[in-house]
Amino acid sequence: MNDSVIERLKKIQANIPANVRLVAVSKKVSIDLIQCFYQQGIRDFAENKLQEALDKQIQLKDLTDICWHFIGHLQTNKAKKVVESFAWIHSVDSLKLAQRLDFHTKNALAEGKIRQSPQVCLQVKVLVDDNKYGWSVEQLWQDLSELQKLNYLQIRGLMAILPLGLSSQETLMAFKKVTEVAHSIQNKQVFSPDFNQLSMGMSGDYPSAIQAGATMIRLGSILFAD
Ligand SMILES: *Cc1c(COP(=O)(O)O)cnc(C)c1O
Repeated sequence: MNDSVIERLKKIQANIPANVRLVAVSKKVSIDLIQCFYQQGIRDFAENKLQEALDKQIQLKDLTDICWHFIGHLQTNKAKKVVESFAWIHSVDSLKLAQRLDFHTKNALAEGKIRQSPQVCLQVKVLVDDNKYGWSVEQLWQDLSELQKLNYLQIRGLMAILPLGLSSQETLMAFKKVTEVAHSIQNKQVFSPDFNQLSMGMSGDYPSAIQAGATMIRLGSILFAD
């Protein structure tokens, strides 16, 4: 039943450079299919809804080496639970959220609920997009000094989702812009040298994202669709 899905996964994997991390977006995907991907060696799974993710984590708790990524918009009242349940949070989209996550990380570490701080990406919009959350580049520069004060989160890089309807040329330009912004933040040494991740690229645009320097691609439908 899953043979064709596995074949497709192998083809995609063969075309992803070794330094790019494939994060399988398992939202709305059945437990069976997640287990099938696990058996193929996939360890990075991403979810965008907290409750759905927690249900899956319980059902898959025996697969202890799964690395769970949170990629959805997060309300601050759910920050505590996300800190306790995810290794990565790609969708940190405001200073207020970052501060809440940092506060809960401090507590969770002190209470022994987690051993390591979550690794996070800052979500940026390099093109105007009223339908999406995230910092504009200008706002991000303004907030960097406050973000720098956060002692507990591991701020690892930038994350981007592009607006719909871009040409392939515009897509590549936009991803390159994200890379440029990340490089200028790196050059100013705002964060530790571990600020070196670019989470960008989905099923429809990941080859351009890789070309522009993505280190993590988040693939859903191209992996899991029938
Ligand atoms: C759903 C989702 C993806 C995967 O999208 P596909 O187009 O199915 O690959 C990637 N990133 C985020 C933030 C998502 O919500």
